[in-house]
Amino acid sequence: MRQIREYCGIFGIYNARDAAHKIYMGLHALQHRGQESAGIVTSVFDETRGKKVMPVHKGPGLVLDVFKDPTVFDTKLLGSSGIGHNRYSTSGAADNLANIQPFLVHYRDGNLALAHNGNISNAREIRHSFIERGTLFQSTADSELILHLIAQSTRRKQIDKITDAVSQLEGAFSLAILTDDSLIALRDPNGFRPLALGRIPSANGNPSEDAWCVGSETCAFDLVGAEYVRDVEPGELIVINQEGIDRGSFESYQLAQNNGVSQCIFEYIYFSRPDSKIFGEMVDKVRRKMGKQLAHDAPVPEVPEGDPAPVVIAVPDSSNTATLGYVSECKKLDRPAKYEIGLIRNHYVGRTFISPGQQSREQRVRSKFNTVEGVLKDRVVVMVDDSIVRGTTARQLIKMVRQAGAKEVHFRVASPPVVSPCFYGMDFPSHEELLANQHNGDVDAMAKWLGVDSLGYLKVDGMTKAVKSANDSEHGYCDACFSRSYPVPVDMGVSKDENEW
Ligand code: AMP
Repeated sequence: MRQIREYCGIFGIYNARDAAHKIYMGLHALQHRGQESAGIVTSVFDETRGKKVMPVHKGPGLVLDVFKDPTVFDTKLLGSSGIGHNRYSTSGAADNLANIQPFLVHYRDGNLALAHNGNISNAREIRHSFIERGTLFQSTADSELILHLIAQSTRRKQIDKITDAVSQLEGAFSLAILTDDSLIALRDPNGFRPLALGRIPSANGNPSEDAWCVGSETCAFDLVGAEYVRDVEPGELIVINQEGIDRGSFESYQLAQNNGVSQCIFEYIYFSRPDSKIFGEMVDKVRRKMGKQLAHDAPVPEVPEGDPAPVVIAVPDSSNTATLGYVSECKKLDRPAKYEIGLIRNHYVGRTFISPGQQSREQRVRSKFNTVEGVLKDRVVVMVDDSIVRGTTARQLIKMVRQAGAKEVHFRVASPPVVSPCFYGMDFPSHEELLANQHNGDVDAMAKWLGVDSLGYLKVDGMTKAVKSANDSEHGYCDACFSRSYPVPVDMGVSKDENEW
């Protein structure tokens, strides 16, 4: 079975009058993290049944589509706390509606809902041990294993069951868990995926009436009027409930640290939005620094004296910020460069990766971008993109820029060559499909295949330097996709597809 990649967006809120609507807005802001499906679960006291219940609404598609009927907020998703989830878009995964999160179960401690971002790298072993015991599964997602681990824990208190369960996991898991009385936020000890804590001050200034929220990225906070408080720390589990709000501090637990902190550097390169703060720093700032460093590692080509400066264009939108840093630094380095908008992106196509098969992926690139001939014709053009994975996007775009009349086409990448798959949640293809591996890392051969006059990447050292100069936190990063150095052991012999079933 094809793997379902858990590259997602999560949002949770506690003590908010219109909780479901705020989650809806939070998920909408996090739409870039997952377009395949969306869902919200809230917690509410059911008068007729005399107990807490958790209504759920979820389905395939974008947030705006799944929640297009506004009555769902007034009639179904009631209550002042809840969690929501956006799932990343991959072909095939949408077929199984059982995989749409949040997952919801009823067990001896009441109701429990879970939203997960990340990939559990020991999922196969855990699943096999459950299968041996005859456990029945409803989905094919590794996230469901967390629920079984919680339900089957022999600890007495619910919070201990949860810490017991997550202590058995390896890999990437940022979680929002909703119980009958709390919202629990948790990041794996490596801190692979981001998760931040926010607060919506009450209108009357009474802290007991403040709402608290957690989200994958802070752009979700901006839309719901929340202020960023801090990150959920790697390995930290925070219990958000009324007691904690009244006390002015939340219970916080620390999971054992085995492998050190290794936050995903690709979140800064590509995945997160520039207007978000993740891992304690604005993505815009980090990306700009990467662009500046790229100017040192691979500046624009020199042109004969008297010729117009090379035109530098970004591949929108993910490389816009890095390109700004690149151009300003090139100028500082005495390499004249002119920033232009030479590629226009159609925003209604979706992410290129979702189309199955190489040919249709190429068609999608074509339908997603168009060139501005007047900007490119007869000019030396330098294209900047945030990353090259398979090379499909770059190759197609280079062809289009040439067709628009560029005299020379040079390509610059604001990250190093991707050489190894991700086992912690990033949607990368297999080892063999990566452009750099197809050419044994030979940049000239890659340039030839792409059809460019020159190709230049950000160096691994340059990337680390850029991130550190923008974010001086002591936490380290995972750069396994560039360095092949995996911070949590992975079974390289197991294909990613086998990790799911
Ligand atoms: P490729 O065409 O395979 O080389 O893909 C590279 C392009 O896809 C770049 O323009 C990136 O902005 C974007 N990209 C990089 N990583 C991912 C990812 N994990 N999922 C979707 N798109 C990505």
